[in-house]
Amino acid sequence: MKELVEQLNQYADAYYRLDHPLVSDKEYDRLYRELVELEMRYPDRVLPNSPSHRVGGKVLDGFSKYQHQYPLYSLQDAFSFEELEAFDRRVRKEFPHVNYICELKIDGLSISLTYEAGQLIVGATRGDGSIGENITENIKRVQDIPLTLAEPLDITVRGECYMPKASFARVNQIRQEAGEVEFANPRNAAAGTLRQLDTRIVAKRGLATFLYQEASPTEADSQSHVLEKLTKLGFTTNHDYHLAETIDDVWDFIEALASRRQALPYDIDGVVIKVNNLAVQEELGFTVKAPRWAIAYKFPAEEKEAEILSVDWTVGRTGVVTPTANLTPVQLAGTTVSRATLHNVDYIAEKDIRLHDTVIVYKAGDIIPAVLSVVEAKRHQQEPLMIPTECPSCGSDLRHYEEEVALRCINPLCPAQLKSKLEHFASRDAMNIAGLGSSIVEKLFSANLVHDVADIYRLSVEDLLTLEGFKEKSATKLYQAIQASKNNSAERLLFGLGIRHVGSKASKIVLERFQTIPLLMEASSEEIAALDGLGTVIAESLTTYFGSDGARTLVAELVASGVNLSYIGQTPSSDALLSGMTIVLTGKLERLKRSEAKAKLESLGANVAGSVSKKTDLVVAGNDAGSKLAKAQALGIEIRDEAWLESL
Ligand code: AMP
Ligand code: ZN
Repeated sequence: MKELVEQLNQYADAYYRLDHPLVSDKEYDRLYRELVELEMRYPDRVLPNSPSHRVGGKVLDGFSKYQHQYPLYSLQDAFSFEELEAFDRRVRKEFPHVNYICELKIDGLSISLTYEAGQLIVGATRGDGSIGENITENIKRVQDIPLTLAEPLDITVRGECYMPKASFARVNQIRQEAGEVEFANPRNAAAGTLRQLDTRIVAKRGLATFLYQEASPTEADSQSHVLEKLTKLGFTTNHDYHLAETIDDVWDFIEALASRRQALPYDIDGVVIKVNNLAVQEELGFTVKAPRWAIAYKFPAEEKEAEILSVDWTVGRTGVVTPTANLTPVQLAGTTVSRATLHNVDYIAEKDIRLHDTVIVYKAGDIIPAVLSVVEAKRHQQEPLMIPTECPSCGSDLRHYEEEVALRCINPLCPAQLKSKLEHFASRDAMNIAGLGSSIVEKLFSANLVHDVADIYRLSVEDLLTLEGFKEKSATKLYQAIQASKNNSAERLLFGLGIRHVGSKASKIVLERFQTIPLLMEASSEEIAALDGLGTVIAESLTTYFGSDGARTLVAELVASGVNLSYIGQTPSSDALLSGMTIVLTGKLERLKRSEAKAKLESLGANVAGSVSKKTDLVVAGNDAGSKLAKAQALGIEIRDEAWLESL
């Protein structure tokens, strides 16, 4: 078995990574089947690096969170040569003689791979940089990721997992034939694949990787040596990099790359420029967000021409009516665009945008497509754009206030507004009710179960069960999320009410001062405006809102449902370090008392449970840990020690 595993791994490496097959597919299959037969006969002798781990199908019930031992960083952006020059000046002020390494910025997803004694232990997504998701089973199905390294090292490496253009075309072809929605671009396809619960699908999708960083301490002295070392260990690295002495040299590389970009077998969205010397990198260090020793040059947003076929008008939470153009589909920066925002009525008037005009479309901030201007030479129809006079949702007259660029529906009972108010109320920074997104809100609304936010707290499990798609389990889960939100610190509620100008920061400031919503309701607008960070606009908006009968009734209803109106302060927000994780403590801790350890974990947002189950995300094991530890190991749950707990 050992011989077969080694042979097969060598053949696979030659095939997938080195693009240099050593044997025919038939021969490979023959050896593989021989191995599988042996493995079936001796299931307890299956080697950890057996290629059979890459193909076996498993259906996972979800992904557990994974706390990165070494956080992942993001990069500062540059969009022009001037910005690169400014970066170069900042670096050279301290280190006049640096060299740069220019690497392609692969448009995929960051992954982090941890090996112990040369064996792949964990593969994780980036997440927020400190907590990602454990996607080990899927990572094993990415063919060019080694399960065993050439040396028995303990090492954590980082890189990009992506879908090659060829795989993307194939995957979409299959989806199209099956009548499924196609992926918009290779990046989305890669993201969707890595979060697949069925590992067999992952194995079929043809993902690939480029590794570029050693996150654990390295003895290499430069980034180019890191790449060499990673290659020797068995990782795929990108050889298409360039060492540059000067920033002009960097720019030449970028310009040359722009012209051969389309011909690359994978998508890139720019170039990452790093100081090559690792000692210098360490000296330069990090800002709060990103390393000082690197910058990501992003290719400029693409522009394309398209024709406006029709315009949709949609009503938002505050009643603002926004126009979106439906376009003839165009390829723009790797995605097919068939809709673009026209911003507002004043924008339409200013640019004189008409129906059937040919317009220039671009991606604002690389994400939302927008219409930039009209190509007047191509105008052959004079049809004006119909500006609605009535709300598309409720039919009431729209207003266009002098000081505003937008059209507005001022009907407080407008269904479109009510729905987006509910969505806002449930959103992450507001009441954070998981599972109450736009489609569920829509269903609740159509079923006449909710009209305003107070109705949310009147919902029973039975009510939810009447909705299409809900089963006992999902209904109970949503019900519990709703109940849990009652205990939120009141600034979430205040923000969730969606009062004009009152953002989440302002909500926190006023409640820190007034402590409860009833006390805030009694405050004068002068008192509120006097607070640091607030002004008369916010203060007046608050007093006007709470002065209305509607608001007073709503608050009374929320109280009656048991919703907390007080500021609690230190409640772990959803972005606390361990937010949402279920952690079990076991064994004897040396320095911390059990209660201290528990309090610390809870203050970071964790839920400390008494016994280990499939729902456990992590186990902290002290000395002489017994059955809980064994169970955690059997379930493949992450295990940490007291030192880790102290380091938090
Ligand atoms: P951004 O997401 O724009 O902040 O860019 C940072 C991301 O670029 C990282 O999280 C990586 O996923 C990605 N990336 C792609 N290629 C590279 C590379 N060669 N070096 C560093 N980061 C890269
Ligand atoms: Zn309306």
